[in-house]
Amino acid sequence: MATVEVRHLQKHFDGGRVRAIDEIDLATGEGEYLVLLGPSGCGKTTLLRTIAGLEEPTAGDVLIGGRVVTGLPPRARRIAMVFQSYALYPHKTVLANIVFPLRAARVAVGEREERARKAAEMLDIGHLLDRKPRQLSGGERQRVALARALVREPAVFLLDEPLSNLDAKLRASARDELKRFQQRVGVTTMYVTHDQSEAMGLGERIAVMSAGRVRQIGAPVEVYDDPADTFVATFIGSPPMNLVPRGEVLVGFRPEHLLPEENVTGDRITVALDVQRMEYLSGDRHVYGTVQLGDHPTRVIARLPATVDTPIAVGEQHDFAIAVDRLRFFDERTGQRTDPLRVGS
Ligand code: ATP
Repeated sequence: MATVEVRHLQKHFDGGRVRAIDEIDLATGEGEYLVLLGPSGCGKTTLLRTIAGLEEPTAGDVLIGGRVVTGLPPRARRIAMVFQSYALYPHKTVLANIVFPLRAARVAVGEREERARKAAEMLDIGHLLDRKPRQLSGGERQRVALARALVREPAVFLLDEPLSNLDAKLRASARDELKRFQQRVGVTTMYVTHDQSEAMGLGERIAVMSAGRVRQIGAPVEVYDDPADTFVATFIGSPPMNLVPRGEVLVGFRPEHLLPEENVTGDRITVALDVQRMEYLSGDRHVYGTVQLGDHPTRVIARLPATVDTPIAVGEQHDFAIAVDRLRFFDERTGQRTDPLRVGS
């Protein structure tokens, strides 16, 4: 096992016109499952490829296990990378596919098969070793690709959207499986996704990225409850955090914390919500409307759980409230939090 760290990392393309990684500092814990989450084009893949040694950084360093590896070729880094489009050899059996990297690495013949079988057992594909890839389901093929990466006994796993080829149902089970697999082998893993529910479900910590930078790194509950800026506040959460201008400040609150007044006790602020639309989603009521805290009305969303049965009518105004300790404040100009984050991350 080993930690991964990047220091002042930059990666530019096209003579500096594209700053895929603008500047990133990041360190995993030993055996940690760190998810990189961000919109398309924010630099996630470039970061993984630079850590793997497939790209030379423009500036900064990559450390694995505390040792600077910048400039070393990929094979010297004890890293296994699984991409979104993993290619298995279609004419080889599952066993031959898994053994392949060991042949390339000149591992002794007797040892190859033993290691391949062990990796296959770990991923519950031990019974499929004689099949060809086309005789497998998408999820099973995925596991063959993981076994092929695992067999080299990497110190670090880099996974780039490895579930994106699977359908929704299979994705959920493959996600569970990946998590259990990582807990079992305990290998430090960096996992790239643009899907926030995948990130929230899988990550011990999530690094939220945008435009070649890490905006915040923290446990799922930290980035959700205590976003460091308006980007994180609105990228995470569905529907996203409400942001209502008041003078120089944006007042933020999650839809589930905006409730009919009588449901909020203790210190609270009340707002009049002009209700424009309602939706029922998995038992919750999503109420769309406008509130006014400053100069002009702002659109907001309230999410009412089934336990709140206050009658709400479209076209009417209702008194809603938000508990004061649920409010988050951001600088309107920079988007940065202005009240202190309650967690150290
Ligand atoms: P996605 O989720 O769509 O895969 P990503 O977050 O992984 O996106 P990257 O693939 O790392 O994003 O790309 C980051 C930026 O760098 C993008 O603007 C992309 O167009 C640019 N980029 C990546 N590789 C190159 C390259 N080889 N040459 C020029 N620009 C590149």
